[in-house]
Amino acid sequence: MMKSTESWLGSDFLPQLTGRTTNSAQNEPARILVVDDEVRMRESVRDLLQAYGHSSIIAANGHIALDILREKPIELVLLDLNMPEISGLEFLELLKADFPGIDVVIVSGEATFANATEALRHGVHDFLRKPYNPVELLGIIENVLKKRNLERDFKQVHQRLEASEYRYRFIVDNSPDIIYMLDEAGYFCFVNDRISQLLDYQKDDLIGHHYSEVVHEEDIEKAKYAFAERRTGDRASRNVEFRLRCRDNAQPSRYFESRSVSIELNSMGIYRDTGNNSEKCYVGTYGVARDISERKRAEEIINFQLYHDLLTQLPNRALLRDRLGLAISQAKRSSSQLALMYLDMDRFKVINDSLGHVAGDQLLQTVANRLRNSLRDSDTLARVGGDEFNLLVPEVSGRVDAIRLVEKVLDNLKAPIFIDGVEVFVSFSIGIALFPDDGETMDTLIKHADIAMYHVKRHGKDGYEFFSNSMKATADQHLSLDTGLRRAIDEEQLQVYFQPQIDLQSGIVSGMEALLRWKHPEAGNISPTEFIPVAEENGLINEIGMWVLDAGCAELSKWRKAGHDQLKLAVNVSSKQLAQADFEHQVFNTLTKHGIPGSALELEITENVLIQDMDQVINKLRQLHAAGICIAVDDFGIGYSSLGYLQSLPLSTLKIDRSFVSGIRATSSRNSIVTAIIAMAKELGLGIIAEGVETEIQHQQLKRLGCPHAQGFLFSRPMPKEQAGLFLKKGYL
Ligand code: C2E
Ligand code: MG
Ligand code: MG
Repeated sequence: MMKSTESWLGSDFLPQLTGRTTNSAQNEPARILVVDDEVRMRESVRDLLQAYGHSSIIAANGHIALDILREKPIELVLLDLNMPEISGLEFLELLKADFPGIDVVIVSGEATFANATEALRHGVHDFLRKPYNPVELLGIIENVLKKRNLERDFKQVHQRLEASEYRYRFIVDNSPDIIYMLDEAGYFCFVNDRISQLLDYQKDDLIGHHYSEVVHEEDIEKAKYAFAERRTGDRASRNVEFRLRCRDNAQPSRYFESRSVSIELNSMGIYRDTGNNSEKCYVGTYGVARDISERKRAEEIINFQLYHDLLTQLPNRALLRDRLGLAISQAKRSSSQLALMYLDMDRFKVINDSLGHVAGDQLLQTVANRLRNSLRDSDTLARVGGDEFNLLVPEVSGRVDAIRLVEKVLDNLKAPIFIDGVEVFVSFSIGIALFPDDGETMDTLIKHADIAMYHVKRHGKDGYEFFSNSMKATADQHLSLDTGLRRAIDEEQLQVYFQPQIDLQSGIVSGMEALLRWKHPEAGNISPTEFIPVAEENGLINEIGMWVLDAGCAELSKWRKAGHDQLKLAVNVSSKQLAQADFEHQVFNTLTKHGIPGSALELEITENVLIQDMDQVINKLRQLHAAGICIAVDDFGIGYSSLGYLQSLPLSTLKIDRSFVSGIRATSSRNSIVTAIIAMAKELGLGIIAEGVETEIQHQQLKRLGCPHAQGFLFSRPMPKEQAGLFLKKGYL
């Protein structure tokens, strides 16, 4: 339903609309006041007027007339000039001063020229001589009333126009959108108030200026056609998006960059009719621009979230794939190479589980920053999984180039990271695939970099490898390990090998390390570094670990009975096994079963174990220790945890990692790490054994440095139980 104009805008907005003229409405009789001191005269006029449908009042003098005027709305006064008290001319003065809207016609006997001009000077409508001619009088009255009606109509139209203009201006100026008009040359000829609020311009600053002055310089091309649109109807510009520039001095200069407003523009040409139907003349453009900055900002955020990882703010897999696709096309065109690297943090799960997820998140953020700092702007580093990152390096000249970058990346990650006061060392396993040599499509490159990364993982982590085809076979095989391993247990494909541990002073075999072997019917020997992680993942490690302990103890028992009664057995224990509730009891049961004292068993754990659930692990280790069982830290020195735990745990032995042993040089001053580890172990009252001894130089240096025990290919490779028995019989020296 339409509302009336007044109620729609509220009466406050339209004072002019409510003001009415003093004229009577058109169909009411006109009210005429007859002022004459002659009774006969005024009554005859009254009768005449009434006879012709006019409403008239009579007054015998000026005073009475003024009183009537004050009380009643009068449109016309018929005035005699010659009256006592107030003359006609004096009355005219008073009338014009107080009632300016009333018309006057003089009906007088004194028709001198002076009187007539004086009366006309006072703005009377007409002058009639007495005795008047009724037809002439009625004609004059008719004229006056017609003129009044015309004036009234005109006034009303004018007021309506004013109100309408006011209404449209109100609507336009209060519009949430910018509304403008340009002339045919693209200069502003109208803008609404909104533009000043949005862009900090005053209206007058813009009128007469070219639209390009308010368009963001980067969007000029886009804005060109839309802003000064000449088309109309369906073909006119709809929802064209670009940015407008705010006035330069509106903000301190540091805001310059961001001072723009995103708008969506609808515009159309304005044409003037030339009178000739087929021809229209272009006079300018009308447009409405909507501020869409908020929507743009929201879109940007959503876009960012769609293509970025929120924790590290790095691109995600989707964005990486997008950029990789582009980089491949580019590399094809320019016959250049590119590198895709697959980075996986070593042991992240252990850190996350032991320090908590908040700390894990912090670690990822720090690591992401460090990685980012090693890169160029053109490289894309993406987080593609929990602790997995992909790095796209477009434009590499070859392997040497990639190696330089990857070593820089690894170098940047070396320094410890402090999370909640805990010192954490991180390392990465990185696989690299080069385009086009290692794959020509996005998926192959990613897959091959992934395979190379797994290769690094399986061979001791912390390093990098380029993809090679031989890795692919291993990777495919890895997939079948899971099912294969279950069968391996049933079909007795598993075997325990033994590697002797030598007392360096006496040359006697002091112990044997049990090392698991898998003789796969088709694939041949599979390394424990390959299948132990699979067994840890699928849970078979518990069963397998206990089987190794049992088989090892069975052999040890025989050897001890055969005279090697000081011989010890070292068995590797996975962190997953230690997490089992009754692990220690299973160990005790096995020892009892084979009649072996606790002191003849050494369990090898890695440093990872120690930062899991410390309380639970310490408790278990204490119980094992209390039963005389030795605890050795395997691969010592390459873990990332602090050394503080050495003192708080019931440890007996440190096994110096092979990487330190292989670094041993003939000159003893260069063996500072090994020297330091031996010194520290002695200080803490711990036993020590060096693993991976391959050369006589290493052997002699270790002996010289006071390392009591050693193990390695130099003395013997791991071997089946029968051979190990023979080795024992023979003795090393
Ligand atoms: P580890 O406990 O550090 O075992 C030493 C590894 O170094 C063995 O590899 C051994 O064959 C190898 N090795 C010994 N001397 C030398 C040497 O002089 N030079 C070189 N290059 N290598 C030497 P292996 O048997 O392949 O075992 C690898 C890893 O698999 C073991 O490292 C251990 O962490 C794990 N593992 C083996 N058997 C078991 C098991 O029964 N249970 C668990 N949980 N892990 C096992
Ligand atoms: Mg070991
Ligand atoms: Mg080891």
